[in-house]
Amino acid sequence: MARKVFNNCREDASAGGPPKRVSALNTTTDSKPPIDQDRLWNDHMALAAITDPGKPWTRRSFSPRFLEGRAWLREQFLAAGMTVRLDAGANLIARLEGTVKGAPPIMLGSHSDTVPSGGRFDGISGILTALEAVRALQASNYPFRHPIEIVDFLAEEPSEYGLSCVGSRAMVGELDAKMLTYTNAQGETLADAIIRVGGDPAAIPHMEKPVIAGYLELHIEQGVVLERNKLDLGLVTGIAGITRVEIALKGAADHAGSTLMRYRRDASLPAAELLLLVDREARAFAGRNEGHFVATVGVLEISPNAANVVPGGARMIIDIRAEKVALVDEFVALLDRESTAIAGRLNVDREGFAILSQNPPAPCDAHLRDLLGRSADKLGYSTTTLASGAGHDAAFISHIGPSAMLFIPSRDGKSHCPEEWSEPEQLAVGAATLFETIRLLDGQNI
Ligand SMILES: [Zn+2]
Repeated sequence: MARKVFNNCREDASAGGPPKRVSALNTTTDSKPPIDQDRLWNDHMALAAITDPGKPWTRRSFSPRFLEGRAWLREQFLAAGMTVRLDAGANLIARLEGTVKGAPPIMLGSHSDTVPSGGRFDGISGILTALEAVRALQASNYPFRHPIEIVDFLAEEPSEYGLSCVGSRAMVGELDAKMLTYTNAQGETLADAIIRVGGDPAAIPHMEKPVIAGYLELHIEQGVVLERNKLDLGLVTGIAGITRVEIALKGAADHAGSTLMRYRRDASLPAAELLLLVDREARAFAGRNEGHFVATVGVLEISPNAANVVPGGARMIIDIRAEKVALVDEFVALLDRESTAIAGRLNVDREGFAILSQNPPAPCDAHLRDLLGRSADKLGYSTTTLASGAGHDAAFISHIGPSAMLFIPSRDGKSHCPEEWSEPEQLAVGAATLFETIRLLDGQNI
């Protein structure tokens, strides 16, 4: 069957990109990456079909369905002439040798697991566009010098064992012994689960950290910046760090009918003021243009949460994400100060203030980002720089070598839900840009 070969035609305005860019398109057919848009799309649909039937699209890490998906992926990698192996952390790694012996690999990848009732693109597109780029390189007889590896990292999404990015942590030496003892609801340890999917947890501490020429991860944006601005691609500046702060407030639970207003110690009131303060201050911090900054009160509980009782307690968790640690520190200090002051003014005790977790930001490599940008320019795709507010395997891989991310648009910014969607053309644009970037990176000194 004849396959439609993706070319860079942008007559279709719905595919995005300002019209002025059309003139910047390649004039010679030779230089168009031979990306097969239909094949890339069909791959997405084939992998999506491997889902828990009752709740598409679900392929939870460590599940039989996940292993089925990996078996399918393995077949595609083999068919593309790649060798396939599992490392101790149960990362599925496909590899194509280059011409220079001992050259560090150009690594690409993402994850094939999903959240429950997730989508068909989050993670998956990073693997399948990489595969399509590799096929295109082979089709164009490109004599690449570096080996190329495509990695399906184990359990990027939060797993049943209470941990995300399991495989990428293992690869960079950050999956520690304690994490391996985490259990799922059935009492199985993460170590046992890793064995079950073909890994070797005992060998994880001795895994050699890979030396890489660079790591490239394409991902759906999971936001609306590209779509709203009709842009083809996002060049990711960095992956925001995530800090979670818990604030507990204690007043007095009293009868809602008989406790006069002036005698109350209502713990919901400082919580309400803090809720608005978080939003107001986060907007101000974001407005300073010192990189990505967002903050959210995602957990807000009052107790006893009864219609006829003045709330005696309140608890909130604030999720703060930023590219700059200094901004987070400043925001946390402000929360500390203001929560004390507001609670005091409302005659409520600030019972607790705790940083529950703090993951540092992971800047993307500027040189790799530049190569991605140059590739996009060459192909006539419009770009912008933006940060990732969501976590990715690239955050961990950046600890062992230069890493960069490329975003393609997601419809309505939806992700982690069945509505998640990227157009076939948008996937092909991403694959073509990976193709060019691999060539640029491969051409550099080994
Ligand atoms: Zn993802």
